[in-house]
Amino acid sequence: MYGIPAQLADTLAWEVLCRHRANEPSTDPPWLNLHRLAAAIGVESIQHCALLEEGRIEPAGDRFRVWISDDLPAERARFTLAHELAHLIFMSTMAEWEPSREVAAAFTSEEAMCDTIAAGFLMPRPWVLHAYGRSKPSLAAVRSLATSAGVSLSAAIIRFRVVLGWRDSLLHWTYDHGEWLLDGEAGLFTSQMRLVRNSELTGWQLNELLTSDGQDHDRRLSLYIGGTEQHVDAQVSVRSNSAVAFVRAGQIEDPSRGVRMPHRAVA
Ligand SMILES: [Zn+2]
Repeated sequence: MYGIPAQLADTLAWEVLCRHRANEPSTDPPWLNLHRLAAAIGVESIQHCALLEEGRIEPAGDRFRVWISDDLPAERARFTLAHELAHLIFMSTMAEWEPSREVAAAFTSEEAMCDTIAAGFLMPRPWVLHAYGRSKPSLAAVRSLATSAGVSLSAAIIRFRVVLGWRDSLLHWTYDHGEWLLDGEAGLFTSQMRLVRNSELTGWQLNELLTSDGQDHDRRLSLYIGGTEQHVDAQVSVRSNSAVAFVRAGQIEDPSRGVRMPHRAVA
């Protein structure tokens, strides 16, 4: 979710952080102590266990318990905890706090709203603007934000798109049984999703970088986009059985449509 709803969610997230002094704005980055924030807003315990969903929050007397699925990668577990705390903030302040009501009115989906608030907790807009406002879009910047904030590359690029207006995207492949499976895409408009497939050349180009030890390489990467082979400007990094491509803005568009992408996005 971009635009006004995201700005309102960011304002709410920042006010919550300041109110509970959950992070240290003077440090760089202002690493968020989620457990401190959780305790401050009424969470009595956070447990990692087998769950069907990624996370859950339930009342326990006059406090709350949070469960996080124990098979999530660390970054995903951290984001999920922030998402569950966003639910709690929303539930407990909706009645009397104007910022909560404004945010609720701006979003049509509570899940998208809580994802956006979670991103605002973990990557506060004032800090992202201060630390990365002058950065050129790059895979290195995405990696830096992800590492600094303890989030996934996907969460980081979506944050850059929301806060800095980037229009670049990320693709991810996993090497499995002798082929590169395209298994992740982030930072795409709804109309761009699932347009991309490997071409006959994609796996060969990724294999070529297997010995590069994860360094970023500028490539004209061959992909099928909307069924047509195209060569897109990308920064590509391959390490072990994982490959990621930072695809420059404006290149993942369905050639059969011949229209510009609408300014609409998934959170
Ligand atoms: Zn949720």
